[in-house]
Amino acid sequence: MTSLAERLAQTRAQITEECSRLNRAEPVLIVVTKNHPVTLAQELFDLGERDFGENRVQEALPKFLEFSEPGDRLGANWHLIGQLQTNKVKQALEFATSLHSLDRQSLLDELIKRTSERDHPLEVFLQVNLTEDPNRGGVEPADLFDFAAQVANVKTLKLEGLMAVASLSGDPEPDFETVASLSQKLVSDHPSANKLSIGMSGDYLLALSYGATHLRIGTAITGNRNI
Ligand SMILES: *Cc1c(COP(=O)(O)O)cnc(C)c1O
Repeated sequence: MTSLAERLAQTRAQITEECSRLNRAEPVLIVVTKNHPVTLAQELFDLGERDFGENRVQEALPKFLEFSEPGDRLGANWHLIGQLQTNKVKQALEFATSLHSLDRQSLLDELIKRTSERDHPLEVFLQVNLTEDPNRGGVEPADLFDFAAQVANVKTLKLEGLMAVASLSGDPEPDFETVASLSQKLVSDHPSANKLSIGMSGDYLLALSYGATHLRIGTAITGNRNI
C-alpha cells in the first residue's frame, strides 16, 4: 500500500520527467477530490497542492466551507469540472475559481446574470463534446467558435480555453488530436484563450504531448473514491 504522499510525489515526478522530455512547461495539476472527505483535500494542501477539482456543487460547497478556518489554508483554487445545472450556478459561484464545463447557451446566460456584480472574472473553459452522443456534456465542435465569441465578450468571464474528456474505453489519442486542433483555431481568434484542460489518471502523460496546460487527476493520486 502506498500513501497519499507517495502517490502524489510519484505522479508529480512522472509529469516533470515527461515535461522535460518534451521540453515544455509544467501544467497546472488539479487533484480531483470528488467523493473523498474534506480531510483529503486538507492533507493535499498541507503537502503543497493548491488546485482541487470537484464535479458536484452539492458536495463541493460544504467541503469548501469546511476546508479552512478563517485565515488558514489560503490560496487554494477550486475547479468545478462536472456538468453544472443552471439552478446551481449561484452556489457554484460561492466557491469556484474556475469552471471547466461551460457548454451551453442557457448556462452562459445564467452565468452572465449571476456574475454581473463580481469584481474579478470567473475563469471558464469551454467543454467540447468529442463523442457522437449529443447528450454527453460539451459544445459540439461545429458550434464552438460562435459560442466562444460570445463568451469572450463577457467582462465578468475570462475565457481560458478548452476542456475535454477523452474516450475512456477507446484510444484517447484521436480525441486529444481533435481538441488540440480546435484549441489552435480558438487561439488564433482569442490569443489569451490558450489553456487546455485534458488528461486524467489514465491518459495524463499522453495529454502532455497534446499541449495540456491543466491535468485533472483523481484516482492515480487519491486512490479509489469510496464515500
Ligand atoms: C472524476 C473526473 C476526473 C478525474 O478522473 P480520474 O480518472 O480519477 O483521474 C477528471 N475529469 C472529470 C471531468 C471528472 O469528472
